[in-house]
Amino acid sequence: MAGPASDADIVSIPKVELHIHLNGSITEATASTLARRHGADPQSALGLVDGRYPGRYRNFQGFLDAYLAANQFVQTPDDLEFVAAEFARGQVAQGVIYSEAIVTAMIFVRNGMDPDAMWTALRRGFAAAGPGTTINLVIDTIRDFGREEADATLALVEAADAPIVGLCLTGIEGTMPIETFLPFRAAARRLGLGFEVHAGEMGPPESIVASLDVLAADRIGHGVAAIRDPRLVERLVRDQVVLDVCPSSNVGIDLYPSLEAHPMTAFWQAGVNMTISSDDPPFFGTTLFDELQHLVRIAGLTCNDLATLQRRAVAAAFCDEATKADLRARIDAWAGSGG
Ligand SMILES: [Zn+2]
Repeated sequence: MAGPASDADIVSIPKVELHIHLNGSITEATASTLARRHGADPQSALGLVDGRYPGRYRNFQGFLDAYLAANQFVQTPDDLEFVAAEFARGQVAQGVIYSEAIVTAMIFVRNGMDPDAMWTALRRGFAAAGPGTTINLVIDTIRDFGREEADATLALVEAADAPIVGLCLTGIEGTMPIETFLPFRAAARRLGLGFEVHAGEMGPPESIVASLDVLAADRIGHGVAAIRDPRLVERLVRDQVVLDVCPSSNVGIDLYPSLEAHPMTAFWQAGVNMTISSDDPPFFGTTLFDELQHLVRIAGLTCNDLATLQRRAVAAAFCDEATKADLRARIDAWAGSGG
């Protein structure tokens, strides 16, 4: 148990993933099927290179272009049910027993989808996971679009018949004053939902501080910029602020030249309460397995460490206590059996 975890350990451990975008999980195969369904040539419409998304981008905009190209073909409830079902099967195949799938519902509504049909399609699609796998929803608003978009997102959430456990603020930091989203944050509290903010991704450490102090975020998505401010890292450790870290995504938009240069190892060693997720896996040529494998290879995580990461994710999840108890028991059973 003392040495680094093996690939077999990473495969077998029951996994909990808190930071994965459904809109960013549309594989090349799924997007190609949808493109053809809507009369487009997949290769050119999706910007595929040898049948794959580029994986690495010059910047965030480069990634966003690829992501939006795929999302344009999720037009009907059938399209979305297909996307959600493929997502569910992918999580099951990786041993992810609990996911909080971030969904930018407004993208589908803007594509012309009826909201009720959208929620039904998500529920039906996720049912493909079968028993033993839970997929809950975290609905995000893209901060670049401001207050109106947040209000529209909230109206969708309030009328939804769906397993929504949280709200989330995404998009490019600094495009709007953070106070713009105080009502959105207050709504999460009123509705009994968790609240996550993507911060300290492309933005500076101050963006993380504002997300905690102004918006009282329950979790920070990414938060990697904290590494530039030792006092902030100290605060994160002291208060055990949860960072949902997605290494390949940060490297994929050129925030770091390599996984070795990514702050995940420093965070781990400092005792930051981080969890590991895959963000938009096919767009960055990764999977949750790959992300955990990188951390094991670079930071030398043991089986016990892997179990610690999963237990942290359970503690930070926005689901109810009964669900958490079940998840914890399954991780403990894995650890108790020697990994
Ligand atoms: Zn994200």
